[in-house]
Amino acid sequence: MPEAKETVLEIDLGALAHNYRYLRAKIDDGVKFLSVVKAFAYGNDSVIIARKLEELGTDYFAVAYVEEGIHLRKNGITKPILVLHPQFTHFEDIIEHCLEPNLYSEKILRSFVETAEAKNQKNYPVHIKLNTGLNRLGFDHPEIGTVKEIISSTSSLKIASVFSHLAASEDWKERDFTVGQIDLFRKMTWELIADLDYEPILHICNTSGVINYPKSAFSMVRSGIGLYGYGNDKNIDPELRPISTLKTIISQIRSLDKGDTVGYNRAFKVEKPTRIATLPLGHADGINRIYGKGKAGVFINGQYAPIAGNVCMDIIMVDVTNISCEEGDEVIVFGGPQHPVKFAEAGGTISYELITGIQRRVSRLVIPE
Ligand SMILES: *Cc1c(COP(=O)(O)O)cnc(C)c1O
Repeated sequence: MPEAKETVLEIDLGALAHNYRYLRAKIDDGVKFLSVVKAFAYGNDSVIIARKLEELGTDYFAVAYVEEGIHLRKNGITKPILVLHPQFTHFEDIIEHCLEPNLYSEKILRSFVETAEAKNQKNYPVHIKLNTGLNRLGFDHPEIGTVKEIISSTSSLKIASVFSHLAASEDWKERDFTVGQIDLFRKMTWELIADLDYEPILHICNTSGVINYPKSAFSMVRSGIGLYGYGNDKNIDPELRPISTLKTIISQIRSLDKGDTVGYNRAFKVEKPTRIATLPLGHADGINRIYGKGKAGVFINGQYAPIAGNVCMDIIMVDVTNISCEEGDEVIVFGGPQHPVKFAEAGGTISYELITGIQRRVSRLVIPE
């Protein structure tokens, strides 16, 4: 791997391919695979990631917001794209860019029918979300009759899929709850699609669902975090490969003595002769203040350097007193010697929040498979 000359997020497409194949192998051949590439593909780069996943054979994509779907379409992504969280103001854009909305409430469903009819659509593919216990988006069980009524009253749309989302698929202590969600999904789905003369795709499993409940894959699974290399489980993490490594370099090194302080609010107090290295990244790049004051650290020449004092907007200082290093040396923030989950946990958060937070001003460096 090349040495970093500035702050870069390296994206390893070989690792992405490995993770895709690992997850794919967990489910039966006939089951479709939807790759979740919302939030800039969890902070990586949605176009680069989606192109590779198309090449690997993914069947579907999902994004959260319409703008994310339009960005993929404008960059040549052709597979179907499910928009997980649309608002009625987005429906014209959705149709214009051949995106497929999640319709999760009566208001949203009626409103999409209105737009689709006004635009003379026939059998426009939509996805119906059922609430089975997460209590976030979706129709509740007693609303199934209304959904059927609305759908059967128009020829403007067609149910491409029916889906739901698990609340605690990674947590074995919640196994009974999860099995209950899966059973309720089966029941609600059956009521919803029994009279249709076609068969929508059915899906409920996210990454941890694929890993822990592969028999409940129905006809599609939706995976996000697993593709990026995280299993939400200490036993699964070693099977997957985090696709991104955040690297930077040392801009400046200075030596300080007892009585000196480092950074804003003088949060790091020097007690003995200390060497401090200054790095060109900060909370505006996605390394939040929560990691400061020694909670987390970086790796320089294979050794751990804790963050000294507060994280600034564009700068972090680290303590390199015991490390042989010089200005210009490479620094690994996470990845390589520091598993990103370990870094995230040091800040009291989870992989999802750490990786989706890496800002776009950090340049991406793609390492091909
Ligand atoms: C984000 C999201 C996913 C992906 O979940 P992972 O745990 O990252 O696999 C799947 N389904 C829905 C509805 C989501 O919002």
